[in-house]
Amino acid sequence: MPDCLFCGIASGEIPAKTVRESPLAIAFRDINPQAPTHVLVIPREHYANLAEIAAAGDGLLEDVASLAAQVAEDEGVAEGGYRVVFNTGPDAGQTVHHVHAHLLGGRPLEWPPG
Ligand code: AMP
Ligand code: ZN
Repeated sequence: MPDCLFCGIASGEIPAKTVRESPLAIAFRDINPQAPTHVLVIPREHYANLAEIAAAGDGLLEDVASLAAQVAEDEGVAEGGYRVVFNTGPDAGQTVHHVHAHLLGGRPLEWPPG
């Protein structure tokens, strides 16, 4: 999709600190980290939100989730614990409309979130 920031990262036109890739997804560091580990996992293809990627099927959402779990291992937060969040829509503060999983860890995470 034109003018999509994360499509730009997926194509390599916009630089990002990539930490892991799969054929269908990419994981890169959030530019404004909210925890010692804050990585975003996106599908290479454009889907606006969780509902769209879930409806697409084909195991794509599972691939995104698996990549997040692998990055949690890489980052050393798998044992201590981590959170994976899909902000969806205005009440959740979704600002980039290319679906992304936030992987957060490396510190105690408040629950419920603010
Ligand atoms: P959300 O509010 O769930 O849509 O999250 C969007 C996230 O993208 C925020 O945490 C931003 O800090 C992050 N972000 C925005 N631009 C970039 C970028 N160029 N590289 C990495 N992360 C970014
Ligand atoms: Zn996109």
